[in-house]
Amino acid sequence: MTFATLGLIEPLLRSLETLGYQTPTPVQAQAIPAVLAGRDLMAAAQTGTGKTAGFALPLLQLLAMEGPKVTANSVRALILVPTRELAEQVHEAVRQYAENLPLRTYAVYGGVSINPQMMKLRSGVDLLVATPGRLLDLFRQNALKFNQLQTLVLDEADRMLDLGFSEELANIYRALPKKRQTLLFSATFSDDIRLLAGQMLNDPLSIEVSPRNVAANTVKQWIVTVDKKRKPELFVHLMRKGKWKQVLVFAKTRNGVDALVEKLQGLGINADGIHGDKPQATRQRALDRFKASEVQILVATDVAARGLDIEDLPLVVNFDLPIVAEDYIHRIGRTGRAGSTGEAISLVCADEVNLLSAIEMLTRQTLKRQNEPDFEPEHRVPDTDASGQVVKKPKKPKKPKASGGGGGKRNLGKWVDSGEVAPAEPSTKPVRKVPVFNTGPRKRKP
Ligand code: AMP
Repeated sequence: MTFATLGLIEPLLRSLETLGYQTPTPVQAQAIPAVLAGRDLMAAAQTGTGKTAGFALPLLQLLAMEGPKVTANSVRALILVPTRELAEQVHEAVRQYAENLPLRTYAVYGGVSINPQMMKLRSGVDLLVATPGRLLDLFRQNALKFNQLQTLVLDEADRMLDLGFSEELANIYRALPKKRQTLLFSATFSDDIRLLAGQMLNDPLSIEVSPRNVAANTVKQWIVTVDKKRKPELFVHLMRKGKWKQVLVFAKTRNGVDALVEKLQGLGINADGIHGDKPQATRQRALDRFKASEVQILVATDVAARGLDIEDLPLVVNFDLPIVAEDYIHRIGRTGRAGSTGEAISLVCADEVNLLSAIEMLTRQTLKRQNEPDFEPEHRVPDTDASGQVVKKPKKPKKPKASGGGGGKRNLGKWVDSGEVAPAEPSTKPVRKVPVFNTGPRKRKP
């Protein structure tokens, strides 16, 4: 199969040739003809499978072939994405695909001045990539009209809801023409999101090119168990031992990112960090420098988990496990992209056992443990498996002292050494994100 047989026009085929795309990926093979035929779409595809081109190529073709010329402050196709970095990245891909077409494309997002964006929108834009908050600001300031809008794309739709954009999205829907094409793309879909999507879409075609919620099999995954306080030390040890060159590291909190970056820089390691508290320009610069291999270690919160495309990234390290199991798939999806192989290592401490169990259940695999000599944890991480079981091996009881109390019966299974801090009592219940729609903004910037 070729892109030509999917019905793409010559100017797009020329762009693809320049980019070196020879064969459509599975998601492209299914999405392109459906979008060209005007269908609504609900597509679930693994990260790195080429879903951006899956919606952008046919969208550009429809814009070039059909519909009126764009008028002042109008937009004909809108791609909503959850983060600013993703807006830049998706727009960059769109720009490359549209190289030989007479279309105007642009990206708007928060954290940067709104005035240049308003200026740019004055003459109208055929295809706009946007984050929801800034899009609404522009709409409310009359810098944007939706009367010409023919297609809406929600990229990483579940993430948008999870990041607290539900109210913004509801407000955007209200402003859009009822008659339009809607495409929903995401690497993971919870059942709740599917239900919602069903309400938003008109007779949608459902595309699922890979089993749901399965991590890319081009990524070799394993975990190292360690005590929480020794994670930084283990990270540096593994880095030196493995002679890591370019690593994307995920930490749970903004403070965690800053602390690790500071520690690494203190050791003379070329590291930088990105999280939601940093100005947009600083975030983008750190990312650009990492992509250009000018920064060796990029430490990030889950703001970088979704969609970022870093060419040939060999390694992702989960310094902390994600709170939401689905984010694990997104994080490790930054490596092993476009058919190349990658590695994902997670440093896991005892109080993360429930998170580990939830990830194993979601990805239907038991992650291989590879313990590091000298770093074996004092607080053992209970065994887990993909069934969601957390197996706590009972410790061998100490012999009761000859004298003093304590001579009564003991429950051996619950024995905890007197000097040991017991890990948080594991429950076998997986940690699941339960997206809530229309309940007002929640956490905005990870
Ligand atoms: P995406 O999943 O959209 O982020 O795409 C992942 C990477 O695959 C990007 O670097 C794309 O440029 C690349 N890509 C997408 N489609 C193809 C294709 N058909 N052939 C080769 N590379 C592709």
